[in-house]
Amino acid sequence: MSRRKIVAGNWKMNLDRAKAKELTAAVAARVAEAGATELVLCPPATYLETVGATIAATKSAVALGGQNMHDKASGAFTGEVAPAMLLDLGCRYVILGHSERRTLFGETDAIVNAKTKAALAAGLIPIVCVGETLEERESGRTSDVVATQVRGSLAGLPPADLEKTVVAYEPVWAIGTGKVATPQQAQEVHALIRGLLGTLASPAVADKVRIQYGGSVKPDNAADLAIQPDIDGALVGGASLKADDFLGIAKAFGG
Ligand code: PEP
Repeated sequence: MSRRKIVAGNWKMNLDRAKAKELTAAVAARVAEAGATELVLCPPATYLETVGATIAATKSAVALGGQNMHDKASGAFTGEVAPAMLLDLGCRYVILGHSERRTLFGETDAIVNAKTKAALAAGLIPIVCVGETLEERESGRTSDVVATQVRGSLAGLPPADLEKTVVAYEPVWAIGTGKVATPQQAQEVHALIRGLLGTLASPAVADKVRIQYGGSVKPDNAADLAIQPDIDGALVGGASLKADDFLGIAKAFGG
């Protein structure tokens, strides 16, 4: 089964409106460099509209994604953003359960699961993040930790929803540290995740799920990751803030 590669830029809480516009225009103008790879830009919520409008003005096939959302449709949730609000701004994707959300904002697998279901119900494609800490890896618990997160975050999804969902394997020790997992370390966990998805739904469904790697992906390490059979793209933090780097990564996956 050939899965369409997907490279998403998680801008986190960076840039200002002018820089967001500039970066979007630079990426949109060069989208052809990504070949068949799907590109997604995930700016801060405040710049979704600007980034969406910039993409629309260039008529390029870059997709828009949120970095987080609430699981409820509306109501007294000060400071939160509802799924339909993201959709309204033109989002196709939403990152959920990023390790920074899990660690700094207390998001549990149950919370990520509720958000994942709400995203799918609203018509958004969730990018569900999982990954072990350094301490968990060093104590030999990577498989258990990742399997628990996958089971918990994706619990109860019907196969038709599961096959649309994107999973991002992001070892916490590799995020923003410059320490990338080796292609073999990443492939091993990706294969484990796909095997688990097979037991949750069916091997045919698991075969359709795109699994991104995230953690210090740069243009110079992307090619070795891209040739692994179960790595279907990248979720990129730091390197997504520079058009050359982001497109260099996309190119590695798009060739
Ligand atoms: C991320 O935060 O999703 C990420 C992978 O960050 P970085 O690429 O900077 O390691």
